[in-house]
Amino acid sequence: MVRRAALVTGGSRGIGKAVCEKLEALGYTVAAPTRQELDLSSSASVEAFLELHKNDIYDVIINNAGINDIHDIEEVTDDEIEQAMQINLVSPLRILRKFVPAMKKRRYGRIVNIGSIWGVVSKRGRVVYSMTKHGIHGITKTMAVELAEYNILVNTVCPGFTLTELTYKNNSEKQINHIERDIPIQRMAQPAEIADAIIFFAEDRNTYITGQLIAVDGGFTSK
Ligand code: NAP
Repeated sequence: MVRRAALVTGGSRGIGKAVCEKLEALGYTVAAPTRQELDLSSSASVEAFLELHKNDIYDVIINNAGINDIHDIEEVTDDEIEQAMQINLVSPLRILRKFVPAMKKRRYGRIVNIGSIWGVVSKRGRVVYSMTKHGIHGITKTMAVELAEYNILVNTVCPGFTLTELTYKNNSEKQINHIERDIPIQRMAQPAEIADAIIFFAEDRNTYITGQLIAVDGGFTSK
C-alpha cells in the first residue's frame, strides 16, 4: 500500500489533534507544524514555512487551525479582522497554492477545509468568524471545480459545537448546558466524531465527493 503524506494545521489540540491521531493510526505520514514552525497569523512565518518545505509532497491537506473571537459589529477591531482573515482564510489559501501543483503532477489530492456551523447559519457576535468560514467554502468550491480532473477532491467539513478549548474559551459551563439543549442530538460533539468525517473526505475511499459542505453538527443547522 502507498504510504500517503498529510499536512494538518492546528494539530496540537482539539479537532486537529484527533485528525492527526486517526491519520497516523491509518498509516499516514503526518506533518503537523507547531505554532513556532508555522504561525498562520504571520505572513513572514507562512512564507518561511513554505520556502523551507517547498519540495515536500502532500497527498492530503487539512486546513484546520482557526480562531474565533466574539464581538458585536461595533466592537470589532481592525486587528481582529486582520488576524481572523490571515489565520482562517488567507494563510490556508497560500498553503494550498504552494502544494497543489505537486498534487496535480501526481494526479492525486484530498483537501479538507474546516468551516463551521457559523459558515452555514450565524449568531450574533460572529460577524468576523462567519465571514471567514463562509469564505473558506468559496475556496473549496472553486478549487473543486478547477482540480477535479486531476483527481484532487476538495471539501469543507463544518463542525458543530465540539468540546475543545475553543468552546470552553467562548462558553461557560452553564452556557454549554444551555446550548446542548438546543442541539437536536442533545449534546456537543467529541473531537473524534468530527475527525471521523474529516478522515473520510481525506481518504482514498472518497472517490467522487467534491466541492461539498458537510455539517457534522448533531442536526443543529437542520432545525
Ligand atoms: P482549538 O482547540 O482552539 O485549537 C486551535 C488549533 O489551531 C490549535 O492547534 C492552535 O495551535 C491552532 N492555531 C490557532 N492559531 C494559530 C496560528 N496563528 N498559527 C498556527 N496555528 C494556530 O480549536 P478546535 O476547536 O479544535 O477548532 C479547529 C477548527 O474547527 C477551527 O477551524 C475552528 O474554527 C473549527 N470549529 C470548531 C468548533 C468547536 O466547537 N470547537 C466549531 C466549529 C468549527 P496552538 O496550540 O499553537 O495554539
